[in-house]
Amino acid sequence: MSRFLSERFAGLEAYTPGEQPKDQQYIKLNTNESPYPPSPEVFQRVSAAEVEKLNLYPDPEGKILKEKLAGLYDVEAKNIFLSNGSDDIINFAFMAFCDANHGVMYPSISYGFYPVYSDLYRVPTVTVPLNADFSINHKDYCGVDKMVVIANPNAPTGMEISLEQIREILASNPNQLVLIDEAYVDFGGTSAVELVKEYDNLLVSMTFSKSRSLAGARLGFAIASEGIIEDLEKIKFSTNPYNINRLTLVAGEASVDSDAYYKENAKKIIATRERTVAELTKMDFTVLDSKANFIFVTHKSVGGNVFYTKLKEKGLLVRYFNKPLIDQYMRVTIGTDVQMDAFLEKVAEIIVEEDGAK
Ligand SMILES: *Cc1c(COP(=O)(O)O)cnc(C)c1O
Repeated sequence: MSRFLSERFAGLEAYTPGEQPKDQQYIKLNTNESPYPPSPEVFQRVSAAEVEKLNLYPDPEGKILKEKLAGLYDVEAKNIFLSNGSDDIINFAFMAFCDANHGVMYPSISYGFYPVYSDLYRVPTVTVPLNADFSINHKDYCGVDKMVVIANPNAPTGMEISLEQIREILASNPNQLVLIDEAYVDFGGTSAVELVKEYDNLLVSMTFSKSRSLAGARLGFAIASEGIIEDLEKIKFSTNPYNINRLTLVAGEASVDSDAYYKENAKKIIATRERTVAELTKMDFTVLDSKANFIFVTHKSVGGNVFYTKLKEKGLLVRYFNKPLIDQYMRVTIGTDVQMDAFLEKVAEIIVEEDGAK
């Protein structure tokens, strides 16, 4: 820390992204990226001709992409907000809708970025414990006096709450903004987007990072009533109006145009997930019911940290959270079938090694 940093950031604990080590080639099952490349249309349209235009600023409105997304989700362009990754949407939501007098609440086990934003903007925060089975008790979020943030499916559990439960949360909080973070919704979850027409307090955030194989492009979007979108635009135009670069806009447009390709990939990932779950269950793992492109698993006798360490030695990265209630678990991104076979093989080896050591 230099002596110049504002005092208000002195205690700030930044988000720790999943590791991206460069020391060797790993099978990466730790940051929930897609194992599949972007669609052929993305390769084609992010072209030398587009690179040639990089001397010009991008469209700060992202009009073409907004219209394409509006078509895909059956809303209007004025209901869409574009952002540099969906982390930016969450950032802007905390900045725009919370302050010292208006707090936020979210599950105590959820996306690790929420507490960072709480801290960054000094927002009074209530973290709500999950049920013993790691499900969210939606009643905890009904009739409250704070902004509500729920990842659905939740991370790192992969479990979801129903549309009916979200409806109850929205209806019981007409004067609170409810942010549903749908980063993983394309892997078998149910989207709340259809409720945007009914509830003007709903903000749904989505990303091109997971199901659309564009984590490196940094592109997210939100769908909400016009007023909420205007507020987010105000923040964006007060910080960085050009926060989505030209090449990313083109990649996003091409991605929406090749929607079938991504739907097909999501189907493949779901099938691989179900197969992996079945295999792990045979090996005495408990696997939470995942609607995401990752699974959260714990083994009868071998700890999550042991798997994390030994898998890394064997060239495979998974995510381990050294936190109360989940420190026996590991989170495993669903890769290709070949990658998951390698994962299952190494896991079986580790179980034998550990059992032999006892
Ligand atoms: C990955 C993720 C995001 C954001 O990803 P971006 O790459 O910033 O779009 C948001 N919420 C959750 C729960 C995530 O896992």
